[in-house]
Amino acid sequence: KSGFATLIGRPNVGKSTLMNQLIGQKIAITSNKPQTTRNRIQTVYSCDAGQIVFVDTPGIHKAKNKLGEYMVNVAERTLSEVDVILWLVEPTTFIGAGERHIAEQLKKTTTPVILVINKIDTVKREDILRFIDEYRKIYDFAEIIPVSALKGMNTDDVIDSIFKYL
Ligand code: GDP
Ligand code: MG
Repeated sequence: KSGFATLIGRPNVGKSTLMNQLIGQKIAITSNKPQTTRNRIQTVYSCDAGQIVFVDTPGIHKAKNKLGEYMVNVAERTLSEVDVILWLVEPTTFIGAGERHIAEQLKKTTTPVILVINKIDTVKREDILRFIDEYRKIYDFAEIIPVSALKGMNTDDVIDSIFKYL
């Protein structure tokens, strides 16, 4: 099997850390600055089961200028072109306007979305469950996977789930 996936989420939720953990080497650029990734960077994961091409997207938010508009367009186009979307969140950040905006954008596509809840090493189990309930209210996820990208907890499940949708 082979196909395309994209990883979306707020700055600092651990997108680069997860990519590095999945790929097994430092390819993605880890940065605290939003909008470091201005265009599509593709990272290829291959194993016996096949290949996943990760297409990086600029952030999905309301554009404030021309460059912002361009990036938002690239991001929205990417969402409908890939086989599966990974939406990475951290359980310490509550759902706000940004998350609702992303959920609305996701409803415009038929691409399956996997909610990946990162940094589970930092919170209690019951908090994760409550967090999952909240996210279920804003979008009908194909799957929900709690992980710790930093510790490599459950990250293999992410790969297995992606392959289901390729
Ligand atoms: P990005 O902006 O979404 O690419 O986020 P980064 O990958 O740059 O991570 C932002 C910060 O969160 C870094 O300090 C990471 O070390 C930290 N981080 C990422 N994943 C985890 C995790 O699973 N657990 C903990 N405790 N910290 C994490
Ligand atoms: Mg990053």
